Amino acid sequence: MKPNPISPTIPLDQDGVHHGHLKLPHSRDDSAWGAIMIPLCVIKNGDGPTALLTGANHGDEYEGPLALQHLAHTLKAEDITGRIIIVPAFNYPAFLAAKRTSPIDGGNLNRMFPGKPDGTITEKIADYFERTLIPQSDVVLDIHSGGKTLSFVPFAAAHILDDKTQQAACVSAMEAFNAPYSIMLKEIDSVGMYDTAVEDQGKVFVSTELGGGGSATALTSAIARKGVRNMLAHAGILQTELALLPISSPSKMLDMSDENAYLFSASDGLVDYAKDLEDPVEVGDVIARVWPKDRTGATPIEYVAQTSGILAGRHFPGLIQTGDFLGLIAKVVS
Ligand code: ZN
Repeated sequence: MKPNPISPTIPLDQDGVHHGHLKLPHSRDDSAWGAIMIPLCVIKNGDGPTALLTGANHGDEYEGPLALQHLAHTLKAEDITGRIIIVPAFNYPAFLAAKRTSPIDGGNLNRMFPGKPDGTITEKIADYFERTLIPQSDVVLDIHSGGKTLSFVPFAAAHILDDKTQQAACVSAMEAFNAPYSIMLKEIDSVGMYDTAVEDQGKVFVSTELGGGGSATALTSAIARKGVRNMLAHAGILQTELALLPISSPSKMLDMSDENAYLFSASDGLVDYAKDLEDPVEVGDVIARVWPKDRTGATPIEYVAQTSGILAGRHFPGLIQTGDFLGLIAKVVS
């Protein structure tokens, strides 16, 4: 395999707090010998586990970058044992453009693993994590939220894994994150995901969905800041007294294993939600109606719950298209 072109501008293995960049050469019209400079902070103190923390895997999701900026700015090396590698804006070109995917190559970083060292810009970022950063990490947190097109009740997530010891470690880290909700996530399409790449290397992995709509709120930001610190304390990296007190304890466990948990739109139009996030939902309840955009007098198309629970996720913009995700109904199990 070819070497990856990315090089860190700071040492990854020296004690102290180091702020720098992952330098990714990118020859282009406005900078022939230029580079993409992805912000990076490494905090290390002695020997111990390594945590790898990322935000903005999708560029329009802000709780991750906010919580990680805060952490990199406030944490001192003596507060920790081990190492924390912080990349607040994982798909940095997408983050700069406030887009889910990269404006350079259209790359959805979370569908591009394991990546390629000689591929597109997004594939090069994926390959660097796949072969350089994930292997030297023990605990990995990737902070997502709904972005411009989705909105969720704030949850942390783990996946069902073949290795039950690894799964239990992931669940334990998810519980330590202590979002208002926790979920064993069943992905619509797990091929190429960072989640899968990290789990395949046997690491402890937690993901989140903390709100959405292409912005962050005071509450969702605070959930992310608290969750990061709690997870670091749980991993034995951060001194426990520096973790924040839980905002909501205990986390409510959600189950989305019902095959009818997801609703999708089969029509284009104006979406008119009859339920809000966290509202209880019974089978047969109308979740949303879709009105036509181009005429009056037509009856809206109704989307009805096929399972019961709470509305845990929804489409965010006012207009919806055929095939769009419309709703996620999850059961509160504890
Ligand atoms: Zn995302």
